[in-house]
Formats: sequence, C-alpha cells, structure tokens
Amino acid sequence: FLSGKRALVTGSTSGIGLGVARALHAEGAQVVLNGFGDEAEIAKLVEELGASHINADLTTEEGCEELMTGAGPLDILVNNAGMQHVAPIDEFPVAKWNAIIALNLTAAFHTTRLAVPHMKQQGWGRIINTASAHSLVASPFKSAYVAAKHGIAGLTKTAALELAQTGVTVNCISPGYVWTPLVENQIPDTMKARGMTREQVINDVLLAGEPTKKFTQVEEVGAFAAFLCREEAANMTGGNYTMDGGWTAQ
Ligand code: NAD
Repeated sequence: FLSGKRALVTGSTSGIGLGVARALHAEGAQVVLNGFGDEAEIAKLVEELGASHINADLTTEEGCEELMTGAGPLDILVNNAGMQHVAPIDEFPVAKWNAIIALNLTAAFHTTRLAVPHMKQQGWGRIINTASAHSLVASPFKSAYVAAKHGIAGLTKTAALELAQTGVTVNCISPGYVWTPLVENQIPDTMKARGMTREQVINDVLLAGEPTKKFTQVEEVGAFAAFLCREEAANMTGGNYTMDGGWTAQ
C-alpha cells in the first residue's frame, strides 16, 4: 500500500529507524536512509532496501537542510535519530545538552518545516516522530533527553493542529525499552557493575518500570509506523502512542 510513496527515516542505519525503514520498504515505499555507521554495512542496507543513503549530521541546521535537499519531495517523514546522555543536572555537560536538544528535537523542526510545503500541496503526508516513554514521564539524570522528548510531543501536537485539514497527519510513537544493540550492549557492564545475573539486569534494572517485563521489538515499532501510513489512519493525528509494556499507565 506504499508503492509510489517516498519515505525518509532519519537515524535509520541501526535500531528502531532501521526497523521502520524495513517495514516501509516491505509495503513498497522508496526509502531514503540517514545515519552514521560502517560504510560496508550501510552499502549492504542500501542494496537490501533499494534505498539511497544521505550521511548528514542532524545536529546542525545545515545538515538538516542538506538531508532534505538530497531526499527530495517526501510523502512520509520519520524523525527518529536520537541520542542519550546520563548525568546529574548540575554536572550535565553543556555541549551534550546542546547536541541532544539539537538532534532529538530541533532536527525534527527543520525536517518538518522543509517537508510540509510539498505534503500540503499534494494533500497527503505522514509525519511520524519517534518520541519515548520519556515524552510522558521523567527519569532522573536524563534532563536533556526528557526535555527534548517532551518537546517533540509538543511539536507533534502543534504540527497536527496546523495541518489538520491538509491530508497530512502528525503523530509520535513512544516506546519503552526497545531491544536494540544499544540496549543489549549495556547488559554485560551492568552485570559486572551491580554483581547481577543477566536475568536480574533485564528484569530489575532495564525492565524495572515495565509491567509486561518484555522489550518492545524494532519490528513492532516498524509495523505500527507502517499502520500510521495507511488510509485507515487518516483521522489519527496529534497522537502520542505508547509501546511501553504499561510503563506510563502506572
Ligand atoms: P540507535 O543508536 O540504534 O540509532 C540511532 C540512529 O541515529 C543511528 O542510525 C545513528 O547513526 C543515528 N544518528 C546518531 N547521531 C546522528 C546525527 N548527529 N545525525 C544523524 N543521525 C544520527 O538508537 P535507537 O535505540 O534505535 O533509537 C532511535 C530513536 O528511538 C531515538 O530517538 C531514541 O531516543 C528513541 N527511543 C529508543 C528507545 C530504546 O530503548 N532503544 C526507547 C525509546 C525511544
């Protein structure tokens, strides 16, 4: 149902973004990848998905503009690139704060403002932002991330209202912990640091706040993003949809 549609997924060389890119490709979309990584690995993804790849750094306004010029007119925009830093607020490195706000929030403003004119003009568009459970609740030591994720939920609502009668929907998906290499790689260090077994780290640390005690899978996020692109989702806009095992229901 997405053949003939052009989709840009930011931060799609790994993790959730790659899961979303694969899901949109499977429905027939022409995908534009973005993100960093090993050149040979990226070349493999480009071949697998028949995609193009634009290596733009989205922490800068110039990088966002370079990406949007290279991607061309879009039907679907997925703002997914993001990063994390964990530190107490009075020790939080200012450069990290600036980079996280730039990538996790401001980049989505730039890509959205540049994608919207074409979407409005053609009377169809889908903008999907990867937010997080941290767009709804906070955790200590994640001030920049939580501020940026609350911000992107607000940006989503505002854009949805502005575009409500244009055929363009704007939503965010808010996962809890998603099983990505990033999460998996934290397990051995945490086992050592806390003297815990793998199961204890998973249940008592990573999934402490998630009643289902299950990770969300990147394929599940991809499937839901694809659903938001369907005609049946035409009246779903301004939403913040959790996939967090009940975390924010508590
Ligand atoms: P990841 O580290 O696996 O992927 C991040 C992607 O962003 C990579 O492709 C990376 O190359 C790209 N990227 C990093 N810096 C960039 C920059 N300056 N410019 C352009 N691209 C850049 O992370 P992930 O876990 O897949 O996270 C993706 C999104 O999902 C993020 O916004 C994250 O906050 C959000 N999220 C993740 C989880 C989780 O548990 N993994 C949970 C909730 C929300």
